[in-house]
Amino acid sequence: MRVILLGTGGPRPDPQRMATATLIQHGDENVLFDAGRGVMVQAVKAKIPLASINPVFITHHHFDHIGDLYDVMLNTWLHGRKHTLQIYGPPDTERLVNTLLTQVYDKDITWRDKGEPTFGGWKPVAATDVTAGLVVDTGRWKVTAEIVRHGDGLDMPPAFLKRWTCLGYRFEAEGKVIAISGDTVSCDGLDRLAKGADLLVQCCFLSVSEMTNDHFRRLAEHTLACGDTVGKIATRAGVKALALTHHRPRINDAALVELEREVRRDFTGRLIIGRDLTEIIV
Ligand SMILES: [Zn+2]
Repeated sequence: MRVILLGTGGPRPDPQRMATATLIQHGDENVLFDAGRGVMVQAVKAKIPLASINPVFITHHHFDHIGDLYDVMLNTWLHGRKHTLQIYGPPDTERLVNTLLTQVYDKDITWRDKGEPTFGGWKPVAATDVTAGLVVDTGRWKVTAEIVRHGDGLDMPPAFLKRWTCLGYRFEAEGKVIAISGDTVSCDGLDRLAKGADLLVQCCFLSVSEMTNDHFRRLAEHTLACGDTVGKIATRAGVKALALTHHRPRINDAALVELEREVRRDFTGRLIIGRDLTEIIV
């Protein structure tokens, strides 16, 4: 299997990194996790046949993870998708996808569907809301989800938090395990999905040396794992390889060198400081 880090950045525009998107290639199947800014351009750069991207797993509803979901829905079709595009994500994913289909891109879809017969007619998109547990088992591979913690300790209204579910995913095939942390800090759900993984693709926003203000310290505690915890998470779970994604924009690599040093203190396995289009064989 091959994992391609299509996008390794976050919400802020970064000339070096697109927003979060990770692709797992299993045979001729291409399974996508998140669809942040630039996902389809990156897939073209990685020479992925766009029609073959299916299904898509969404970790949560921040715009750096779903911002270009419309592009996946439409460009897989324009490039020859024959089957329904399946999208799985936390509660509300179905509503978001249906809103894009019926309220935002309905005219575009009708225009290409009716006006461009060479596209072969619109091919549907189906979204399914999921939570912790088995999500899909194709017989060739299976994906399970765990609930992770992304902002839970922040001062948000309880009514909002009820609607805010964040997931990580565990992909299993050929006796191998690839874990996708999603956006999270250290938590039980992350420990479970990463347990014994051959590869953990882990969000890691900052090195400790970059935690220079209260905003960053709060972020490291409640929102996104950073250099002080990701090595401990990986070691506790017994993962063989750890790939760090979801980086903040940086003007040079000095903080990445520092980050690598920090993580190395806690983790002795294979460490990959992810960049856009990094490929990892599992
Ligand atoms: Zn994010």
